[in-house]
Amino acid sequence: MAGEAQPDCLFCKIAAGEIPAQVVRETDTTVAFRDIAPKAPTHVLVIPRAHYPDAGELAAGDPRAAAAVLHEAALVAEQEGVAGTGYRIIFNTGEGAGQTVFHAHAHVLGGRDLHQLV
Ligand code: AMP
Repeated sequence: MAGEAQPDCLFCKIAAGEIPAQVVRETDTTVAFRDIAPKAPTHVLVIPRAHYPDAGELAAGDPRAAAAVLHEAALVAEQEGVAGTGYRIIFNTGEGAGQTVFHAHAHVLGGRDLHQLV
């Protein structure tokens, strides 16, 4: 069923606490944790607890969870102290865009000049 945890999904396991992560925020529907290979001083991933393979499927299948991910991304930026200087919220969607983990997630990047991205 749409949104159900997938046994081989890394981010489902992080959401369930089965694989450790540096969690910075949690809600009933989302988890935010530090990226293991940070591309900026602040690099946090925000995931829905429900499993959807990418941002498009999340938005179509559970718009409230999609909105919650976006809201949490903004709160992460505030909590990390980068909201004032500016930050990026990126959803890599599909292999061609560089997506490597097929559980929808927002990258929150900040703390350095990000003009060269897009
Ligand atoms: P993407 O390439 O958009 O699918 O992003 C996946 C991100 O997950 C990459 O930036 C990885 O560095 C990150 N990542 C992979 N494994 C872990 C992990 N165990 N904990 C935290 N971040 C991870």
